[in-house]
Amino acid sequence: MLVTCDRGCNREFEMKVKITKIRDDVEKNSFYCPECGCEYIAFYTNQIARELQKEVNETIEKFKKQKNLPKKKTVRKIEKTKKKIRSEMQKLKDEIERDEEHVKSQMSSL
Ligand SMILES: [Zn+2]
Repeated sequence: MLVTCDRGCNREFEMKVKITKIRDDVEKNSFYCPECGCEYIAFYTNQIARELQKEVNETIEKFKKQKNLPKKKTVRKIEKTKKKIRSEMQKLKDEIERDEEHVKSQMSSL
């Protein structure tokens, strides 16, 4: 996927997501502009989010294999799980950004 480096050089580049472990349980999914090195954070995941994502993938796989599964119910289940993932990721993002702000303010007061 092509993205525009709107925080840096404004060039388009191919997005290559890199996963970095930032805490025991937390992984950062981010990509960099190859021109200016600007970092863009896609999202953060933790164990819970990853388990839920696995659950979604498994449900989709199961649905593809077994045509007799009730579609409505399956879709609803997937949507519900995805919603949980989104809220988990948002919570995580808020938490990490708050921590980073905290570190920054501590650094500037030194
Ligand atoms: Zn750039």
